[in-house]
Amino acid sequence: MASIKSVSSIIHPGKTYQYADNGEPMRGGMKDVYFAPDKSYVVAFYRDKQDFNSKERLTKLVTQYYDSFFNREGGEYYKSIYCWPTDVVQLGTQIGLVVPTYRKNFFFAKGYATGEGIKGKEKQGLWFASAKFRNKQFALRLDESELGNWLSYFQICVKIARGVKRLHAAGLAHSDLSYKNVLIDPVNRDATIIDIDGLVVPGLYPPDVIGTADFIAPEVLSTKHLALRDPNRKHANRLTDLHALAVMIYMYLLYRHPLKGGKINSLDTEEDDLLSMGEKALFIEHPTDASNRPKLGQLPKSALPWSDVSKLPYTLTGPYLKALFDQAFITGLHHPNQRPNADMWEQALLKTTDLMQPCGNTLCDQKWFVFDNSSSPKCPFCGTPIKGPLPVLDLYYRFKDTVWKPENHRLMVYHNQYLFQWHVNRNVVRNERLTAEQKVPVGYFAWFNNKWVLVNQKLNSLKDLTEDKQVPIGSMVEITDGKKLLLSNEEGGRIVMITMANKHS
Ligand SMILES: [Zn+2]
Repeated sequence: MASIKSVSSIIHPGKTYQYADNGEPMRGGMKDVYFAPDKSYVVAFYRDKQDFNSKERLTKLVTQYYDSFFNREGGEYYKSIYCWPTDVVQLGTQIGLVVPTYRKNFFFAKGYATGEGIKGKEKQGLWFASAKFRNKQFALRLDESELGNWLSYFQICVKIARGVKRLHAAGLAHSDLSYKNVLIDPVNRDATIIDIDGLVVPGLYPPDVIGTADFIAPEVLSTKHLALRDPNRKHANRLTDLHALAVMIYMYLLYRHPLKGGKINSLDTEEDDLLSMGEKALFIEHPTDASNRPKLGQLPKSALPWSDVSKLPYTLTGPYLKALFDQAFITGLHHPNQRPNADMWEQALLKTTDLMQPCGNTLCDQKWFVFDNSSSPKCPFCGTPIKGPLPVLDLYYRFKDTVWKPENHRLMVYHNQYLFQWHVNRNVVRNERLTAEQKVPVGYFAWFNNKWVLVNQKLNSLKDLTEDKQVPIGSMVEITDGKKLLLSNEEGGRIVMITMANKHS
C-alpha cells in the first residue's frame, strides 16, 4: 500500500503537495518520481544534493520564467508545448520539483504491433526516429495505429521548433534537447518538450549536463576533456540546441542519423565515436565528400522495400529543408554561428507542407510526399504516379506599383486543399500567434466536373487577372495553365501564377 506524504513549497509559504509513496518511485536520470494521489502532477526529488546555484536556477524557472511564458496572452499554447515545472519543494535536504503529468495521448494506446510490451508507456520521440521500429519483419515494430503518416512528422517538428524558438527568445537554452526529452504523438500531430529543469538560465552557471549522445554538438564533444570551468570548454547553449534541433528534425523525417555513416576515424571504438560525432563529424550526405556514406546493407531490409524512407536521399524533404540541412550539417556543423535558427526551421517546415501531395495509394506507408518539380510526379515511397493535371501555384508579392516579385513560396493543389490568409497576404505570418479568425480558411480547391476550381469563401477582392473578372464570395474560378489571380487588393495582397504539371498524364 502506498502511503500519502506531504512536502512544502520553498517558494509559496504554507503551500504543500501530497504524493503517494509505495517505496518504489519511478527512477528518472537524476530524480525519483512520485505521483499525486489524483495523478494530476508528479513530485520529482533529485537524488543528489542541489547547490545554491541550482536552487536559484530552478526557482527562476518556476517563477519569473513561468510567468513570462504562460501567464500572458497566448500562454495556453505554450503550456501544450512544454511540460514545465510549477513549483520547487524541499524535504529535509532533498530538493524536488512539482511537474504536471503528461497528457493522455503521450502514452502508447497499443505500442508494439505484437504483444503488450510498451502499452501505456510514454511515447518518447526515439520510438519514431529510426527505421527499426517500422520494419515489418521486426517483431518489436510499432503498431501502424501509432505511427501517423509523413505529414504528421512535419507538424510535430513545427511544434518542437516553436518550443525551441520561444526558449531562445527568452534567452534560455534547453541544454539537453533530444528524442528522449520530447514526447511525440504522430496520430494527433502533437509534441511536448520535457525535462525543462536542465534549462540554461542567463547569469547562472549551466547545469553540469553534457546532453544525450546523438544530439551533442561537435564543439561540446571535442572540448569535454577540459575542466568544467576552463574558458575553452564549450557548454550547452542556444547554438548547441540548434544542432540538436536539426538532428532531431532530420531523424523524424528520414529515420537515420545525419552524422552516423561508414567512415572510421579511429580503431578504438570509444575514440571513434568521439571523433565521428565531434572534431571529425561529417554529414553522411555531404555533396562532395562521400567518405561518410552509410554502408549498404547496414539496415535490415524492410518487407516492403519501396517504403524504406531511411534509404532515400534527404532531397526528398524538398528545397527549403534541403537548404537548412545543408546549413546545419555542412556550413554550420563546425561553425555554430551559422546554424539555422528555430524560426527558420519552423518557416521551412510550414512552407514544405504547402508543397505536399497526398499519395493515391491507400496502402502507402507514408501517405504524403513533397512534390519534386518533375513533369511526371509520383510518390517516392511507393511509386504511385499522380493522375491527371496538377496545379502548381507560385506566390508573388507587390514590390513596386506594377512590379511583382516571386516569394519563393509555392502552393500545391489537391482536392479539398484549403487556401488561408497567410497565402493571400504577406503581412499575415503563419506562426503560433495567428488569431482564431486568421486560422479559418478563405477558400478551397476542388476537382469539379473534370476541372480544377478555387471556391471563394472569404476573399473580398479575388480577381481573375487573365479574364479580367472579379470572383465574388460564394463563386468559383477555374484553375488553368498560365492563369493569374489577384488574391487580394489590400496592402500585402498577393498574386498567384498557375502552372499545370503532369499535363499529359
Ligand atoms: Zn505512396
